[in-house]
Amino acid sequence: MHTPVRDVVGIGFGPSNLALAAALEEEHGGADAVFFEKQPAFGWHRGMLIDGATMQVHFLKDLVSLRNPASPYSFLAYLHARGRLVDFVNHKTMFPTRLEFHDYLEWAAAAFEERVRYGAEVVSLRPHDDEALEVVVRQGDELETHLARDVVIGAGLEPVLPEGVRPGERIWHTEDLLTRLGERGDWEPRRIVVVGAGQSAAEAVEYLHRTLARAEVCAVFARYGYSPADDSPFANRVFDPEAVDHYYAAPGDVKRMLFEYSRNTNYSVVDLDLIDELYRRAYAEKVAGAERLRILNASRVLDVADGPGGLRVRVAFLPTGEVTALDADAVVYATGYRERDPFDLLGEAGAHCRTGPDGRPVVGRDYRIATEPGPAWGVYLQGATEHSHGIASSLLSMTAVRTGEIVRSMARRSARVAPGV
Ligand SMILES: Cc1cc2nc3c(=O)[nH]c(=O)nc-3n(C[C@H](O)[C@H](O)[C@H](O)COP(=O)(O)OP(=O)(O)OC[C@H]3O[C@@H](n4cnc5c(N)ncnc54)[C@H](O)[C@@H]3O)c2cc1C
Repeated sequence: MHTPVRDVVGIGFGPSNLALAAALEEEHGGADAVFFEKQPAFGWHRGMLIDGATMQVHFLKDLVSLRNPASPYSFLAYLHARGRLVDFVNHKTMFPTRLEFHDYLEWAAAAFEERVRYGAEVVSLRPHDDEALEVVVRQGDELETHLARDVVIGAGLEPVLPEGVRPGERIWHTEDLLTRLGERGDWEPRRIVVVGAGQSAAEAVEYLHRTLARAEVCAVFARYGYSPADDSPFANRVFDPEAVDHYYAAPGDVKRMLFEYSRNTNYSVVDLDLIDELYRRAYAEKVAGAERLRILNASRVLDVADGPGGLRVRVAFLPTGEVTALDADAVVYATGYRERDPFDLLGEAGAHCRTGPDGRPVVGRDYRIATEPGPAWGVYLQGATEHSHGIASSLLSMTAVRTGEIVRSMARRSARVAPGV
């Protein structure tokens, strides 16, 4: 049977490719696009959908507004559809809860239901000819192949555990926090250790301390205290569309300098309100003489032994080297995420893609991976471009604008190769 060549195949259907679906509809109406998502249904970091946790970006940095403020897929359009626009305005917040934002994303995803195949994992790409790529998709036990002129990888980040640590019954990464807790029902642990000092770590500590009323929660990290995220207005400009132009054009040493200066907007930092809340609780417990929230600062986990009765976690206090052994029911690693390497997905198509001296793909300003001369097909990256486009790459701030840039790049390229043009 003849397999049709689609204009666009999207890998993953998180916020990035959901925003792309909206941009394609609004700016490239006739495009034949399909998205493959390995989860069984739409979900945005469900394991960390902690009630009360708020967004780290302004609600106007939604899927579409910075590209098209009149889009029907904006957060404001969602609020209107849900009958909550006036209530939200009265609330006077720019940072909705993640639960509400998840509901917004689900609402937007539902509008593109026909374009998405859930429970479908893309395993590799290979060139079909110069015009199209073969996209190999696993759905259940079946492998099937689709053809596409352009592929957009929006596969998100992958969780990171310290070297040698394997996840298990009692050893979790924060990405699974609510899932693991949900599996345990009415659980009454005596002690949980949370490793890390970033936003997810602080959120996990807050949530475990709030919801497991009998448990001691030990936060272990090497810093002296949680460090606040810099979300002040001038610092925030690093997430502006113009900042991507500046970063992209900068020489390597300037890129590295700008990245280091901006780290404290996103990496290993915590919202100040949350830091204050944790301190307030720790102090109140000190006053009451019953401390359940323990901050083991300037400390490092040496090892974790898993025995029949639970875990034994050895923690070193770095200034003195003193070692404390903690018996715990679970250790939660809030040790962050890293970019997925696009070459893991590119398969045989990777041989046609150019790499820089660091082994990472060479990416055009339009987010297309540079290829050797020949292929007319394109692979675009949403995420995994911190090295070329800067710190906003894995965040929502640039999503709306980036998808417009990708759609316009695709349109320009297809106009060039169209017969008679
Ligand atoms: C707990 C948490 C909170 C966050 N909060 C914020 C915030 O407030 N503001 C902000 O700007 N950023 C935030 N981030 C950063 C986050 O990266 C972005 O919010 C956003 O998720 C990026 O969207 P994405 O679509 O690129 O990636 P993801 O949301 O990770 O989506 C990628 C999707 O691709 C799917 N997938 C992966 N590989 C394949 C494959 N081979 N085949 C098929 N499907 C595949 C995955 O299942 C997933 O659904 C947060 C991150 C976390 C972990």
